[in-house]
Amino acid sequence: MKKHVIALLLAVNSLYFFGCAEVPIIGRKQFNVVPDSTLNQMADEQYQQFLSENKLSSDSSAAAMVRRVGSNIQKATEEYFRMKGEAGFLNSFDWKFNLVENEQVNAWAMPGGKVVVYTGLLELADTEEKLAVVVAHEIAHAVAKHGAERMSYQLASQLGGVALSVAIKDYSGQTQAIFEQAYGMTSQYALVLPYSRKHEYEADRMGMIFMALAGYDPRVAETFWQEMSARSQGPEVYEWMSTHPSDESRVQAIRRQMPEAMQYYKRG
Ligand SMILES: [Zn+2]
Repeated sequence: MKKHVIALLLAVNSLYFFGCAEVPIIGRKQFNVVPDSTLNQMADEQYQQFLSENKLSSDSSAAAMVRRVGSNIQKATEEYFRMKGEAGFLNSFDWKFNLVENEQVNAWAMPGGKVVVYTGLLELADTEEKLAVVVAHEIAHAVAKHGAERMSYQLASQLGGVALSVAIKDYSGQTQAIFEQAYGMTSQYALVLPYSRKHEYEADRMGMIFMALAGYDPRVAETFWQEMSARSQGPEVYEWMSTHPSDESRVQAIRRQMPEAMQYYKRG
């Protein structure tokens, strides 16, 4: 009996040690037991598969805009971590920005910075700056490792502490299967699973800083989310709007973070 308790304590202890990370900018302690290498490899495979099953947009100027906005925000994000002396934080990132031909109003970023924008989204984000709001927000989810955090909680609840620490030590096929199941990566539709409110607010705050550093006016985020809030009262609620519910409290939270984001706008 005693032996079991000690083993459990050791396992939980090592799990805590291993699993404690911090969300950049936010400073919140985060439970994450999924190594970047594992997650990014899975994301890479899933991203390639998605691209092979979906048509890239033939609108070359719109596709170029998505790449331009993405690359500007990528550089800004890298600059942010360089400024903080933590350039290595993004080492595992392998950035990709693609516009796919799909009338769905949607966009997402996979772990490691693999972004897809659907042509339908450009109806909502009809200027480069509005697109920057969306892309920076999605990149912020990836930088904050929200997906890995969500997966870690699902793994912990499915396996329990001891089994989880064993599973993490040897990445067997079974562990891989559990990862996939937990992340829901077996289906591309799982990519649009909504994040929690907390994750949404964090991505808003971080995204505003990244877009500001990229030279896009972060105040556009406030007007954009106000528009989303107004649109969500209307008859058409699109995919991206349903996973990103906007209301007065979201807009207020964005307004509260604005002075912080403005510090990063046009600094040079
Ligand atoms: Zn989001």
